[in-house]
Amino acid sequence: MNVPTDVLVIGAGPAAFAISSELCKRGVTVQGLASTDPTRPWNNTYGIWGFEVDKLRLSHLLSHRWSNCNSHFRIPATKHRADYGLFDKHLLQSHWLSLIDSANMVWHQGTAVSLEHFENYSSVNTKEGFHLSARLIIEATGHQSRFISRPISKNIAYQTAYGMVGRFSKSPINPGQFTLMDYYNSGSRFDSDDNYPPTFLYEMDFGEGIYFLEETSLAFTNPVTYDVLQRKLQTKLNRKEISILEVYHEEFCAFPMNLPLPYLNQQVVGFGAAASMVHPASGYTIGNILRSAPLLAQSISDNLMKSNCSSSQLACEAWTTLWSQNSIQCHRIFQFGLEKLMRFSEPQLLDFFDTFFSLPLPQWSGFLTNTLTIGQLSGAMINLFLKAPWSVRKGLMEFRGQETELMLKILLNSMK
Ligand SMILES: Cc1cc2nc3c(=O)[nH]c(=O)nc-3n(C[C@H](O)[C@H](O)[C@H](O)COP(=O)(O)OP(=O)(O)OC[C@H]3O[C@@H](n4cnc5c(N)ncnc54)[C@H](O)[C@@H]3O)c2cc1C
Repeated sequence: MNVPTDVLVIGAGPAAFAISSELCKRGVTVQGLASTDPTRPWNNTYGIWGFEVDKLRLSHLLSHRWSNCNSHFRIPATKHRADYGLFDKHLLQSHWLSLIDSANMVWHQGTAVSLEHFENYSSVNTKEGFHLSARLIIEATGHQSRFISRPISKNIAYQTAYGMVGRFSKSPINPGQFTLMDYYNSGSRFDSDDNYPPTFLYEMDFGEGIYFLEETSLAFTNPVTYDVLQRKLQTKLNRKEISILEVYHEEFCAFPMNLPLPYLNQQVVGFGAAASMVHPASGYTIGNILRSAPLLAQSISDNLMKSNCSSSQLACEAWTTLWSQNSIQCHRIFQFGLEKLMRFSEPQLLDFFDTFFSLPLPQWSGFLTNTLTIGQLSGAMINLFLKAPWSVRKGLMEFRGQETELMLKILLNSMK
């Protein structure tokens, strides 16, 4: 069978666009399949650290950038010593679309329902009844991916958040301010009857009297519902005697933080949330997608040139590029970190974050953006342990739930 397309990418989110555009840049023939029109505007609000976009030379795609960035864990507030930015999501989408369009990439609108694998190609069948084939299929359909196999886990933790862009009777934060985590006014510190896990406010001043406020639950296996988050946000505003004047946009956010890593021997390759690329301890993904897309595209492009490379070998090389031994080991440490964060009491959590952000900038930023080697990450964790108050050290040393199993895996792998 003649298979003219090198790669078929399923999805039309940031991951699908990033990998498609990097493949197109390398002269790979790519087709796209998405259940919606790829030009349909994205809903999510995507934030990123300034040093990440600067390094990627993409700071022109930000709509806002703040130098005044802090968090509230204790008094005084923690200053982050780094800029934070918000992507202009329309600009980000059109940046990728223009790269893709200039390579004349063909898009098909349809929903993928099943895959079939053969020696030199794979085929996708759609709900609409048409079929597409390519030497390699990349699934970038987000966290609800249906074709990527991974171990089953009963302990999936979800980040949930309820956010709103609007006008308020008084400024909820200082002018020009970005607040990553405002736990200080957290309900549970004030309301003894609040049995919900601690949540925090993520706050941005958009200028001209407009603010983005998002009540966020970092992660919980029994996800905090939108009703609770909305109520908590309202309670915090009431406490400050702030009323909502106008709401321009609402964001309902829920995604899994700790999807197990996919099996790396399958013929379909994942990218983005589908490939468990969400940072298990923070939820950040976009920076990782932007940094990984060129590496993955280069590996695929190089291997496509080899005439004797079967589709399963192509996929295997791609998975190994995406999930190296270093990144697998780091991922386990982040998962271990998430387990700890979910079990900490609120005072422990606040002490933990206070210590974490007092680490040298390369350590905390490298942790959050997953850009450290395993040796550097271990060094950062040891430093954190040494600096942390006793309550946090005690929490770090108590092994509960999945923590023992995760730590054993980390130790056994580090001995290999
Ligand atoms: C509200 C919200 C806010 C977030 N904010 C941030 C942030 O600030 N910073 C950050 O780094 N991360 C953030 N994340 C996490 C992560 O970056 C996003 O989830 C991101 O959208 C993941 O990109 P993706 O391309 O992998 O998946 P998605 O964006 O979910 O895209 C999946 C695509 O696949 C298509 N699709 C799905 N199933 C099929 C099918 N069967 N056939 C064909 N097409 C299909 C969908 O239509 C969609 O186009 C946020 C997540 C949410 C939900």
